[in-house]
Amino acid sequence: MNPAIYPIRLRISMAYVLVGERAVLVDTGSAGEEERILRGMRRFNLEPERLALLLHTHGHTDHAGSTLALKQRLRVPAAVHTADAPKMRAGDSGPLIPLRFSGRILSLFLDPRFPAVEPDLLIEEGYSLAEFGLPATILHTPGHTPGSISILFEDGRAIAGDLMMGGALGGAIHPLDPGYHYFAEDLPELRSSIRKLLDHGAKTIYLGHGGPLEAARARERFAPDFPATLAPR
Ligand SMILES: [Zn+2]
Ligand SMILES: [Zn+2]
Repeated sequence: MNPAIYPIRLRISMAYVLVGERAVLVDTGSAGEEERILRGMRRFNLEPERLALLLHTHGHTDHAGSTLALKQRLRVPAAVHTADAPKMRAGDSGPLIPLRFSGRILSLFLDPRFPAVEPDLLIEEGYSLAEFGLPATILHTPGHTPGSISILFEDGRAIAGDLMMGGALGGAIHPLDPGYHYFAEDLPELRSSIRKLLDHGAKTIYLGHGGPLEAARARERFAPDFPATLAPR
């Protein structure tokens, strides 16, 4: 059976439930959204008790905000890439470095803090989700944050967090149009990571805001921006 990806729309971000033999929640939204996530799961007839892992695309306030609450409630381990573990431990998104003017405005209104939580599992490039019955592996795709990851399924579906954004106003307008997120800690690294995900055969890319994106459109949009040393083939 093809594992399912169930999207849960939250206040400003998306969470996803991956269901294979066991269920994995990808991202936990902002602080105080645990009920919304549990309701969203039940709407898909998914019992929250089935969750075996809280997996984070990165350690930002709108992706790890309800992790502590869900951990305490469901007694499920939380996983994050090693390089974003300090953000989770501190309950602080760290620097939100704007890529354009709208990002600068947005950063004035975003509270970077969230309930601090100790990750139970530190993951790295190549980590496999096979033990959850999910034919998917983790790609380290830094740039937005140092520990940003993408989850790539064998069939080409991918969940890429804030590696890119779909549309404008956090995905409210034209959610299928590929674009850069408002923030990136390291832009050249971000570009290499977008290229990496596309070169690993991603076909449909689910995101933290807007999407899903078709890989062909993303390649068209981003290829001109790839660094010269990594010229598109
Ligand atoms: Zn983010
Ligand atoms: Zn986000």
